[in-house]
Amino acid sequence: MSFAGKTAVITGSNSGIGLGIAREMAKAGVNVVLNSFSDSADDHALASGIVAEFGVEAKYIAADMSKSDDCRRLIVEAGRCDILVNNVGIQHVAPIEDFPAGKWDAIIAINLSSAFHTTAAALPGMRINGWGRIVNIASAHGLTASPYKSAYVAAKHGIVGMTKVVALETAQDPITANAICPGYVLTPLVEAQIPETMKEYGMDRETVIKDVMLARQPSKEFATVEQLGGTVNFLCSDAAAQITGTTISVDGGWTAL
Ligand code: NAD
Repeated sequence: MSFAGKTAVITGSNSGIGLGIAREMAKAGVNVVLNSFSDSADDHALASGIVAEFGVEAKYIAADMSKSDDCRRLIVEAGRCDILVNNVGIQHVAPIEDFPAGKWDAIIAINLSSAFHTTAAALPGMRINGWGRIVNIASAHGLTASPYKSAYVAAKHGIVGMTKVVALETAQDPITANAICPGYVLTPLVEAQIPETMKEYGMDRETVIKDVMLARQPSKEFATVEQLGGTVNFLCSDAAAQITGTTISVDGGWTAL
C-alpha cells in the first residue's frame, strides 16, 4: 500500500528539519499539516506554497507544543493523522550547575512530553483506520551525549525509549513507531549555537563548523533536511512495515565512533 494520499502531521514544521520533511512528504503525495506556536501570514503561506508546488492538501495549525492541551488539539484539528512526525525541538547549552530550571522544563516539555501527548491523541484514529506510522525525530544525542546539553540529551534518550514502548504497544497493529537520530543539520537551531561557540573557543564561523561541529561527524558533511525527509518517507513505505521500535541514524557516522 502506497502512503501517497495519507495525511501527515509534522510538529514544529515552519522551519528547518520539520519543514524539509513536510516538503519531501508532499513531494511523495502525502497531505501535510504544518505546525508551530506562531500564527502569522507567513506560516499559513508555507502551507499554501506546498499546495501550489506539489498539488497535495496542506494546512498550518498554530499550537504550542509545550502545552499538553495544544498537543492534543493539534491532532484533533488536523482531522486525520495517518503519519505522525514528532519533530519539534529546542536546545539550550549550559553547564548543569548553571542550567536554568525553566529551560530544563521547557526542553523536556517540547522535545519529549509533546510526543507523548500527540501519540496518545493520534493512536486511536490509526487503530480505527488500520494503518499508522509514528516517526520521532530524536538525535545522535538520543544515543550518545555531549557536555552542557543535559536537558536535550535526557529528552532525546527519553524519546528513543518512548518509541520502543509505542512499538511494543502497537506491534500487532499495522502501525510502526521508530526514531530517526540525525547528526548535525545546518538549521536555525544549529545556526543559533554557532555565535556562542565562536565566542567560547575564539574561533571564526568556518572553524567552528569544521573543527567543532563536523569534528563529531566522520563524513565531515552536514546531513540535509531532504535526506531526513527521504528517511521518513522510507519508514512510511511498505518496505519498512516490519521496522518498528528502532532508531535510524542519519549522522555521517557520528555514533559509529
Ligand atoms: P529549528 O529550530 O529549525 O526548528 C524547530 C521547529 O520547532 C520550528 O519550526 C519552531 O517554530 C518549532 N517550535 C519551537 N518551539 C515550539 C513550540 N513550543 N511549539 C510548536 N513549535 C515549536 O530546529 P531543527 O534543527 O529543524 O530541529 C528539528 C528537530 O530535529 C528537533 O527535535 C531537533 O532536536 C532535531 N535535531 C536537529 C539536529 C540539527 O542538527 N539541526 C540534529 C539532531 C536532531
